[in-house]
Amino acid sequence: MIDHITGGEALNVLKIIGITGFTTESISVATNVKSSKMGRKDIVKIENRELRKEEVDRIALIAPHATISIIRNFEVYEKKGVEIPRYLIGVVRCPNPGCISNTNEPVPSQFEVSQKGLHCLYCDWMITNDIKNYIL
Ligand SMILES: [Zn+2]
Repeated sequence: MIDHITGGEALNVLKIIGITGFTTESISVATNVKSSKMGRKDIVKIENRELRKEEVDRIALIAPHATISIIRNFEVYEKKGVEIPRYLIGVVRCPNPGCISNTNEPVPSQFEVSQKGLHCLYCDWMITNDIKNYIL
């Protein structure tokens, strides 16, 4: 279960983890639930699905307050927050069309995360807003 998703981002979270409506997972989605901490939040519940680290990294970019709980036998087995890592490898597309990570070379994008935004380690491009438009 992914809780405390930024209000309105639940469908983007599903997209990130590859759930399109043609997959077979059993999913519940709640959007714009009142939250004392966040005003409003979204919640996504997916059955029998563990998240890979790259998926959690992507979720952190659009929903930095999200918490991920693994529920087994109706009890919370594990609960953790998400954290944007220092480096994002192959997670975000570089906006610079001339960047080596956008050519046919088999080079995954590499960004360093800083206060100011995401910094491409190949071409020095900075992504400072609309980060979610560049998530791969
Ligand atoms: Zn670049």
